[in-house]
Amino acid sequence: MKTAVVTGGASGIGLGIAQRLRSTGFHVASLDLNPPADDDFAYRADVTEPEQIADALTAIRAKLGPVTVLVNAAGIDGFKRFQNISFAEWQRVIDVNLNGVFHCVQAVLPDMLAAGWGRIVNISSSSTHSGQPFMTHYVSAKSAVNGLTKALALELGPSGITVNAVPPGFIDTPMLRKNEEARRLGGSVEDHIQRTPVRRVGTPDDIAAACAFLISEEAGYITGQIIGVNGGRNT
Ligand code: NAP
Repeated sequence: MKTAVVTGGASGIGLGIAQRLRSTGFHVASLDLNPPADDDFAYRADVTEPEQIADALTAIRAKLGPVTVLVNAAGIDGFKRFQNISFAEWQRVIDVNLNGVFHCVQAVLPDMLAAGWGRIVNISSSSTHSGQPFMTHYVSAKSAVNGLTKALALELGPSGITVNAVPPGFIDTPMLRKNEEARRLGGSVEDHIQRTPVRRVGTPDDIAAACAFLISEEAGYITGQIIGVNGGRNT
């Protein structure tokens, strides 16, 4: 049985992906800031801290074996007028959303190279297609994740490892509802549904389904791709 690590696996999209992969026959360990105490496969690590990631991976490998699937879903957003973003705020958003991907990929890559097989899926954002006011730090970080995905796919293809990105549209998670409550979405979730061609909000399962396919054996010829899952809002 293959072992997958899902960052941000305690909430929202990451949780949906972890559940889906578990139900399709993977060992799944999640890495999170606040893992649920009653989940034996949830490990605490801040994705911006390489030592914490290394410690968690040592425990995961000892329990579940080498890690050949990585889904980077941990992320934070940020909403501020550009001129009001402090450099510390800018750096934290880049650190979690972009540098976190760098650290996690570096940590699991030796297992994938040794196996001659691997799957990496990076959860970016549909805001990389459309832009998004008051989110320049977030959109910059997620756009860089798309770039990293394309470049890394070229590098790792000959080693049997695929690298793809899934940029979600509006997905019903704690992050989205928190932003609706704070009136940061430019309308309610219901308003956004009316602007979405398929006329519904996305679910973590929608993202999980795309990830499960990209991780499957039959997706081995798909790499370096940015696969939008957004109800048709960004084409
Ligand atoms: P969420 O419910 O807030 O889940 C994000 C998870 O990441 C949380 O469990 C969070 O932990 C964890 N996390 C945050 N910082 C971390 C760190 N430094 N180290 C380890 N874990 C960390 O958000 P979501 O909506 O599921 O978002 C998942 C991903 O999809 C994010 O990358 C987000 O940017 C992206 N995305 C979401 C949407 C959407 O509509 N929901 C749209 C586009 C892109 P805590 O809760 O303990 O902080």
